[in-house]
Amino acid sequence: MHNTQNLEQTSHILHLALPKMATLSIPVTPENYAIWFDYFAERNLNLKRAIDGLIANGVQFTPEVNLGLYNRFIEEQSPEVIENVQIETQILINSLLNKIEQLNVGTESFSTNLNEFGEKLQTNPNTDELNLIVGSIIAEVDQVIANNHQMSASLESLSDEIANLKDEMENLSKVAMTDELTSLKNRRSYELFAAEQMTKFVDTQTVCSLLMIDIDNFKMFNDTFGHLIGDKVLAYVALAMKHTVKGDDLVARYGGEEFVVMLPNAKLIDAVNVAEKIRERIALKQLSIGKEKKQNLGHITVSIGVATIQTGDDVDTLLSRADEQLYIAKAAGKNCVKFG
Ligand code: GH3
Ligand code: MG
Ligand code: MG
Repeated sequence: MHNTQNLEQTSHILHLALPKMATLSIPVTPENYAIWFDYFAERNLNLKRAIDGLIANGVQFTPEVNLGLYNRFIEEQSPEVIENVQIETQILINSLLNKIEQLNVGTESFSTNLNEFGEKLQTNPNTDELNLIVGSIIAEVDQVIANNHQMSASLESLSDEIANLKDEMENLSKVAMTDELTSLKNRRSYELFAAEQMTKFVDTQTVCSLLMIDIDNFKMFNDTFGHLIGDKVLAYVALAMKHTVKGDDLVARYGGEEFVVMLPNAKLIDAVNVAEKIRERIALKQLSIGKEKKQNLGHITVSIGVATIQTGDDVDTLLSRADEQLYIAKAAGKNCVKFG
């Protein structure tokens, strides 16, 4: 995907983008960097035209303008853009290393010059010539000191930028993978994780199992207590599931009032046990809201379908078997676990 030539190109673009951003006083955030990377990569002509227009009209790149550009031209491309930005940080780090190398090259040329002066000194120079040589040495030393100052200042600001970019990027990936309401992983995150498990099964025969969980009669719950309380219950159910599973297991909100739990290394029987624990934990809890005047919300239950991985499975076939079992659980009267 990203071969050496691409890396070189990317590094070239980086060297164009960062100074340009600095000139325009644009902070190096992943979002802004994505804009200016695309600008110099010339892979998004509408973006390029828009920016050239802004520059031609002397428009300031305020946070609002930057955000506008991001929303209009970049956002819809994510999460691929996020992945690109991650690769590009790697390149930023390489560029930092290059600068350090340059620093060494600077000292090398200094010592070459020093050697030349040394040779000249051995030719018995007169006072004038001696003064000239000493003057040259001083100038050379000054130059090296100046270069080093400049270099270390630019190194420092570059490494600050990298640190910022890294932080922001981690944040960005987290946001892109998280469900806001429940703080669980989102559907995309589940799909990536499930695909990894499929590969692991093909490569090493490591099994995994999937639970598909749906809250029972949740529409009625919302109608009775309101959507806001419904939202709180979703967050509670999410937490209850999370607290029932182990660290390696992935709990995600699949959508609405539906959740998936992916259990690596779990056979069907293990997964059914986990499902039963989750079902029981939620069904037993007497829900209430408010501290002083407690409003009783009664009990909430879930139905769960369980499936385990089979040869030839992909993410969709495993999920649809779990979904079939969930349907059977609903038909059997809800608040139960079915598997097959
Ligand atoms: P069943 O037992 O067959 O699953 O019935 P149900 O009412 O749970 O299922 P149905 O699919 O008919 O309705 C799902 C309801 O879930 C509809 C909607 O009110 C509720 N819901 C989905 N997403 C959210 C959400 O984000 N917040 C809240 N409060 N409710 C949600
Ligand atoms: Mg549903
Ligand atoms: Mg439901």
